[in-house]
Amino acid sequence: MADKRDYYEVLGVAKTATADEIKSAYRKLAMKYHPDRNPDNPEAKEKFTEVSEAYEVLSNPEKRQRYDQFGHQGVNFGPGGFDFGRDFSHFQDVDLNDILSSFFGGGMGGGGGFGDFFGGGRSRRAADPNGPRRGDDMTFRLDIDFDEALFGSERTIDLTLPSQCPACKGTGAEKGSQRVTCRTCNGRGVVIGGGGFFQVRQTCPTCGGEGSVIEHPCRTCRGTGHVSTPQHIALKIPAGVDDGSRLRLAGKGGGGIRGGENGDLYVQLGVRESDIFAREGQELFVDVPVSPILAALGGEVEIPTPDGAAQLKIPAGTPNGKLFRLRGKGVPSLRGGSPGDLTARIVFEVPANLDRRQREALANFQKLVSGGTFPEAQSFQNKTKIFYAHRDKLRKK
Ligand SMILES: [Zn+2]
Ligand SMILES: [Zn+2]
Repeated sequence: MADKRDYYEVLGVAKTATADEIKSAYRKLAMKYHPDRNPDNPEAKEKFTEVSEAYEVLSNPEKRQRYDQFGHQGVNFGPGGFDFGRDFSHFQDVDLNDILSSFFGGGMGGGGGFGDFFGGGRSRRAADPNGPRRGDDMTFRLDIDFDEALFGSERTIDLTLPSQCPACKGTGAEKGSQRVTCRTCNGRGVVIGGGGFFQVRQTCPTCGGEGSVIEHPCRTCRGTGHVSTPQHIALKIPAGVDDGSRLRLAGKGGGGIRGGENGDLYVQLGVRESDIFAREGQELFVDVPVSPILAALGGEVEIPTPDGAAQLKIPAGTPNGKLFRLRGKGVPSLRGGSPGDLTARIVFEVPANLDRRQREALANFQKLVSGGTFPEAQSFQNKTKIFYAHRDKLRKK
């Protein structure tokens, strides 16, 4: 632990990273190196400790400033390096349970239907357990067709979201019941898990981190204050969205409780591939099969575009693989700018399924082939002749 790595480097973020970027980088790494996922891997343990330490400092504005100014000296944790467990005061937002549940928990990968949840990452900790609490932000994954991304579409998504329990109005308590200090964590909201020298601070499983529990929990919601409510949400997908685009529906996430506002719902889009087009940002690409005979004579080729078929004139002698750019025929802009371009590539197709007359016509043509008809082939033949001449000379020596 002599030479500590730079915390920004540890998390793989820039010095100018926003709080969200730091949090997201930390989550990825914490998930990757978490001891639960890496049993008996001391290297992962070490990485996890390092990552947690970096996040603990960089997620706290005051500590981050001290670190930026004074380096590791400014945020020393004592001779043993990072001190898990003894003092919780320097831990604020790091909530492993929360992070793990949002990645591994509830419905990820299962789900059925056409989308899966992988959300709800907000800290469960509320300053006042009896006060209003904002609902969780939820993320819903929705796969759409290529054409829907291109032209926009309307979808209805069915999902189950937590909303305020009607029986207890979100208090989680039966009528007349009070909150009492949690005996598992003595009101601290956290417990120490793990074994040996490596300890992990976890949200108290009894009180969920709130430090107090309800004497007699509400029977409808089992004390959570939430009930699962099926929702039907109409979603307008704008033209031009891309794979990975995220749509935010303000106030459509988890229901707030005790008067707290609702969380937001994020719809993370996955865009399926097209049978015709390839896409990169706003640029579209299309391979167009063309008869080499047509390309030799020159003529018109039909190019599919989002606006309909475009007639492209190709000159006589157009080679295989030739690219043609159709301006403004790409993907529409989400932000009201101009659309991208469409690039069409000519791909020769050898004639197949010839009938007798066609074969005869081609055979007649083949008889007429002269040295200059296929200049590449002629040049190639000349080169091979020279090669063999060299070979014979060298073999004689
Ligand atoms: Zn209830
Ligand atoms: Zn507790």
